[in-house]
Amino acid sequence: MSPMTTAIDHTPPIRRRGLLMGTGAAALAATATAGGIAAAQTDDATAPAVRLRWLGTNAWEFTTEAATVLIDPWVSRFPTGAYTSEGADPETEIEVHEDVIDEHLPKADTILVTHGHWDHIADVPYLAARTGATVLGTETHLNLLRAMDAPEAQLSQVLGGELYQFDGYTVEVFRSSHSASGEHKQILFGGTRPGQVPKRPKKIKHLIEGGSLTYLIDFGGVSFFNAGSANFHEHEIAHLRPTAVFVQPGGGHTPGYVERLLEATGFPPYVIATHWDDFDKPLTEPAVAGGNVEALRERVAAASPDSEFLLIDHLESHDF
Ligand SMILES: [Zn+2]
Repeated sequence: MSPMTTAIDHTPPIRRRGLLMGTGAAALAATATAGGIAAAQTDDATAPAVRLRWLGTNAWEFTTEAATVLIDPWVSRFPTGAYTSEGADPETEIEVHEDVIDEHLPKADTILVTHGHWDHIADVPYLAARTGATVLGTETHLNLLRAMDAPEAQLSQVLGGELYQFDGYTVEVFRSSHSASGEHKQILFGGTRPGQVPKRPKKIKHLIEGGSLTYLIDFGGVSFFNAGSANFHEHEIAHLRPTAVFVQPGGGHTPGYVERLLEATGFPPYVIATHWDDFDKPLTEPAVAGGNVEALRERVAAASPDSEFLLIDHLESHDF
């Protein structure tokens, strides 16, 4: 325990229900309808404090009465071969399907970018321009977004260590690393683009990792820790006590990826599977596993038996 632990309240894991009243509940009900959720909340007394919705990959939407926060909002799926034995074809042309983005991502106040790969940032420029959202990312992430015509005035450069107050929630940023792959522990499309804005990315290989970040989004009573890749910096996050932490298949080069992550974050009440679907398959159908999510579930159960493992399907939500 460091002095930091008492200086910053990292949210005890308590559920906070019934705090949203009137228009807030109506707004959430409207959001739920737009998102295609079957049972929208209509009773004020049971309205959620935070509604979490999965849009596949590591794309998550957090909705409260006051705000919509998105992590890695990418829904323009196009075939890359990422989950075949050959892996993603680096020459695959980037496609941005604005109609699909409009359909699934109606609102955004804040967009958090974990790293620069296509399946995390390719939709952000269009989405930021349409919504006016603030976008957090590293210098490289922001340069890639600038190269895709993201609105300069909304881009917030971070490097880890920042704690920002937004309307009803805080966002804390942590330094991290992408998961490695292959015999020589390399990062897919590694590299950085500091300084000058690069040429417009046309192919998925042009959207380089550009550094990785993790985020704690704290709504005051319920908080979430997300990493967009199967890696983290243990010493950066060892004091955190989030309500929920996201885990994903992979991390084979990171010993104890799941076990150390759960221990570092205090064995959170909720562990949410992320980035487990084959994103070459449609978002509008039930997720097809791209990684071994059942092995992940068992690993979580063994490491943190009191945590509830949440496997949320495409476009479905969970209320906190
Ligand atoms: Zn990645």
